[in-house]
Amino acid sequence: MLELRDIHTYYGNIRALKGVTLEVARGEIVTLIGANGAGKSTTLMSICGIVPSRSGEIRFEGEPVQHLPPNRIVAKGICQVPEGRRIFPFLSVQENLDLGAFLRSDTARIKQDLEYVLDLFPILAQRRHQPGGTLSGGEQQMLAISRALMARPRLLLLDEPSLGLAPLVVKRIFEIIFKINMENNTTILLVEQNANQALRVAHRGYVMENGRITLSASSEALLADEGVRKAYLGI
Ligand code: ATP
Repeated sequence: MLELRDIHTYYGNIRALKGVTLEVARGEIVTLIGANGAGKSTTLMSICGIVPSRSGEIRFEGEPVQHLPPNRIVAKGICQVPEGRRIFPFLSVQENLDLGAFLRSDTARIKQDLEYVLDLFPILAQRRHQPGGTLSGGEQQMLAISRALMARPRLLLLDEPSLGLAPLVVKRIFEIIFKINMENNTTILLVEQNANQALRVAHRGYVMENGRITLSASSEALLADEGVRKAYLGI
């Protein structure tokens, strides 16, 4: 479904991605793990066109997308939940969700999707008319995921969904990631520092170091790998 071939991305003169090659098949949950500054967020930013790659190729469902602007990439079915949620704090929960469906015109399906996300996160139904900025961190993460789902993505990019959340909320967020993948058949590329949880939910994983992919294997193999256990699982 998604293929990155030899992607190089820069911030001015800083080379953040140094030839990233990876792929995600339809229906998979794939995780990208690695230390701070490894280039995980930049990989997602390059896929969705916010920080375009300077060379290499990104194909989505066989079509090159690396030269498209972000709005065209969203319209093709890729949606990102950014690190730090980035909800609209002064808009209500409902308005945040409405904006997720901004590019759509299939009113009946939008209504169904709204019911689906409010069912997924009942707390958002209770908070529907409240400004997004008054929600707790965990609730804001739920809103950010729901807003992305309102775009009905075929590929969902999740950037550090567990960052700064209490353990019980983290558990709930990972359960929901699993559910969205199973029930909605949404393919997921998940960036996480919480490698343990990420590998438990994902089918496969990539390890990233200094702008490069250094390891690629099934989640079971990565969970059992001595180097991964020492560097990323704290075991
Ligand atoms: P983290 O888990 O801390 O978010 P990451 O693996 O997602 O890390 P990136 O945020 O992709 O890493 O950063 C990759 C490299 O690019 C780092 O060296 C970082 O300092 C640099 N970088 C990221 N954003 C910018 C920016 N806006 N301007 C300049 N350099 C940046």
